[in-house]
Amino acid sequence: MDTRNIIIVGSGPAGLTAAIYAARANLKPLVIEGYQSGGQLMLTSEVENFPGFEHGVMGPELMKNMRAQAIRFGAEFISADATKVELQAGVKKVWVDKTEHHAKTLIISTGASANLLGLKNESRLMGRGVSTCATCDGFFFRDKPIAVIGGGDSAMEEANFLSRFGSKVYLIHRREDFKASQIMIDRARANPKVEFILNTILEDVLGENEVTGLRLKNLKTQQTSELKVEGVFVAIGHTPNTKLFAGQITIDDKGYIRTSSEKTHVAATNIPGVYACGDVQDSRYRQAITAAGSGCAAALDAQHFLENHEA
Ligand code: NDP
Repeated sequence: MDTRNIIIVGSGPAGLTAAIYAARANLKPLVIEGYQSGGQLMLTSEVENFPGFEHGVMGPELMKNMRAQAIRFGAEFISADATKVELQAGVKKVWVDKTEHHAKTLIISTGASANLLGLKNESRLMGRGVSTCATCDGFFFRDKPIAVIGGGDSAMEEANFLSRFGSKVYLIHRREDFKASQIMIDRARANPKVEFILNTILEDVLGENEVTGLRLKNLKTQQTSELKVEGVFVAIGHTPNTKLFAGQITIDDKGYIRTSSEKTHVAATNIPGVYACGDVQDSRYRQAITAAGSGCAAALDAQHFLENHEA
């Protein structure tokens, strides 16, 4: 069996940028892109903050272009999920069902998934009023009433951020106490545009083609009510997609793959020749552009590793 230079698992902005860089370095990367390729940008509509697109770009189109760019330089793709890996210092092994692939280096870019409430209309109206990213979509709700669901730091931060755009921001949380830090709570409480609705859960998102309101239930009184909003931001945490690598790689206390703090190889994991980039190792920035940047770093780190380990 051939041992490739690089296998990349995952195909969001991080994985595809890594593929572009590795392919242009003539390393002929194999990208195992997953059945649901393209990552979280496939779930968004317009992306206005990715540099280089003066008038914005649709998320799926951006990903299609990145993929085509990688192919142009010789990256190969398998449109299926990696099902098993064996990560060790030597040859890295990745399975796609029964087929085994070997490489000298592996780049992990499997991303993270925003946690959702699991309501039917929440998925149906995703990108049409329902969002999981205030930085990405807040701008579309200028002068409109918005809701944020959650009681952690993300929810507080998103509520404050969204108050720059929305006419009003309702912060809806299922309890009276918060997971968020006190300073973040105080900041949101002091914001005249933010109104807290506590002990309350979201029962359903209302609207045919776009969000027109929410059906809420107060857990203390059991009363249901309707709230008119045009946007709802679900901020109940993220789950990094690391199941495939569990027990084989160092993961931090939030479940993200730990990458190096050394400036000379920022994408390195604890296993020589294994690198991670994008949201699977970033609980903080979670932007397409930071993911792309870290994908570039991972490809360059892998390239240096290959140069230093050439027979
Ligand atoms: P957290 O896990 O901290 O908070 C999630 C919140 O969502 C909790 O309040 C939780 O409620 C609520 N929640 C979870 N599931 C549901 C559900 N099914 N229905 C309703 N509510 C639900 O996630 P965050 O994304 O807020 O933060 C993740 C990490 O990132 C944290 O460590 C945080 O400190 C950090 N962070 C830091 C920031 C900063 O410092 N500027 C900004 C953003 C994040 P409950 O409390 O009842 O469990």
